[in-house]
Amino acid sequence: MGHECSSIELTDDGILVGASFNNGGRMQERKLHCGLLLGADGARSKVRELAGISMKGERDLQQLVSVHFVSRDLGKYLSSERPGMLFFIFNPDAIGVLVAHDLEHGEFVLQVPFYPPQQMFEDFSAKVCEQIIVKLVGWEPADIQVLDIKPWAMHAEVAEKYVGCDNRVILVGDAAHRFPPAGGFGMNTGVQDAHNLAWKLCLLLNGIADPSIIQTYESERKPVATFNTELSLENFKAAMSIPATLGLDPTIANSVHRVINSSLGSIIPRNLQKVVLEGLFSIGRTQVSDYILSENNPLGSLRLARLRSILDEGKSLQLQFPAEDLGFRYGKGALVAEDCAESTYQAEDLKHSKRSSGEYIPSAKVGSRLPHMLVRPLSASSEGVFSTLDLVSGDKIEFVIIIAPLKESYKLAQAMLRIADEFELSSKVCVMWPQGSRDVEAKGSISELAPWTNYVDVEEIPRATVNSSWWEMYQVSNRSVILVRPDEHIAWRTEPDMVRDAYSDVRRVFSQILSLNRPQV
Ligand SMILES: Cc1cc2nc3c(=O)[nH]c(=O)nc-3n(C[C@H](O)[C@H](O)[C@H](O)COP(=O)(O)OP(=O)(O)OC[C@H]3O[C@@H](n4cnc5c(N)ncnc54)[C@H](O)[C@@H]3O)c2cc1C
Repeated sequence: MGHECSSIELTDDGILVGASFNNGGRMQERKLHCGLLLGADGARSKVRELAGISMKGERDLQQLVSVHFVSRDLGKYLSSERPGMLFFIFNPDAIGVLVAHDLEHGEFVLQVPFYPPQQMFEDFSAKVCEQIIVKLVGWEPADIQVLDIKPWAMHAEVAEKYVGCDNRVILVGDAAHRFPPAGGFGMNTGVQDAHNLAWKLCLLLNGIADPSIIQTYESERKPVATFNTELSLENFKAAMSIPATLGLDPTIANSVHRVINSSLGSIIPRNLQKVVLEGLFSIGRTQVSDYILSENNPLGSLRLARLRSILDEGKSLQLQFPAEDLGFRYGKGALVAEDCAESTYQAEDLKHSKRSSGEYIPSAKVGSRLPHMLVRPLSASSEGVFSTLDLVSGDKIEFVIIIAPLKESYKLAQAMLRIADEFELSSKVCVMWPQGSRDVEAKGSISELAPWTNYVDVEEIPRATVNSSWWEMYQVSNRSVILVRPDEHIAWRTEPDMVRDAYSDVRRVFSQILSLNRPQV
């Protein structure tokens, strides 16, 4: 909106934010007084800098130029000859990664590594970029049009704190973490941050939760970012195994660059250093010439065999991460830790499960995402099939309680409904009936849950391939009572036998979940 955060100053009751803007060629600053400032201002976050929050991890792994261009000619050629999304191009003239955003309209973004100070961003004019594209493509598309050229640096870092300045400044997205773009974690992790923070801000601003709830944003999200940073770095290194096998090890290029910086840096002029560097890189790139990289050349043949085995064994860049996308758990934060020993954060678990299987194994453990299963309303008059995920309301803050239709579970659900009413929290019970209940149990839970009406009776629809109940599939007893937070994560799971006094135990759980400190509670 044409404004840039340029200063911050803490006041007794908030934060004074300076927002600079261009007023007819003159920069001016407008002051805004706020309760909270969300720094969602990207990898080079000014808000982070102003709040004095530092980053931890590996810096400046690589400098790159991003070239946004269009060429219908190239799009047409790739669509018919080599359809794909990501093209890692290594040839004796140039190296780059081409991302096809839209083959039909010929829209691409090219990533080219560069090595300052010998090579500077300013060297990459539109003309130079066009020449690089032609070298990479190997022929001259007629209609290349460069739209934008931007530099960026690859880091693997996470902010030391997500919340600073007396809980007044909160970092979100790239401002809080910056990863190598390997695996698609950057924006996705940022969207998850926003999702996590949004409902907590809502509770805070509506006076339902104590300000301490904001700290749970950090304790929940930071471990995920740290984990994803390592994963992206690992994945980036796996991707680099391809050029390394071809004799183009990027770590060697970086070492050559370092040597030039340290040995020639102070002796010979910059433009000569540039010639030396580019000369060495050009010699390096001959490793992928037809002469060397050929089945007739013993070295080339060995490299090609290694390359095939990396690709066959799937040891290069990974792009599917269901376990990491869905399988992380928050063990510390806005959920109950006490009496939930199993909820301790299992980053090690995740690390283990992820690379050994790579699969997402849904679970009903505390902290995990509510597992999906198709269900349908029990009442014969209601039609339609939906997912257990649809039980979580999209438009209001509502807790969901899942039980099986068992006497003891109903009792616990009644206690939960009573306490939710008392706390003025929206809640809903889902009674999960086994398959085949639809015809025999037409009345559902009315006799057990009336006078409450905020419940739904559903019948499980097991998958064709797995004939297990929802409870069996997610390895929990059907005596379990599951409490789901508004953000789709399981907040608490218990069995009636584990509860000493339904009313006071559930009351304690709700207070802990929401860090409720209102006087009447
Ligand atoms: C080559 C590449 C490929 C990628 N591929 C993927 C992918 O496949 N999947 C994925 O999930 N992620 C990917 N990412 C990462 C993704 O682009 C980022 O994680 C995401 O854009 C971060 O979003 P953000 O809103 O936090 O920050 P940004 O998108 O950087 O937005 C920050 C905004 O803040 C504004 N701003 C900056 N300073 C100020 C200020 N002082 N005051 C006010 N406003 C300010 C900026 O103008 C900008 O609009 C990739 C990144 C790169 C570089």
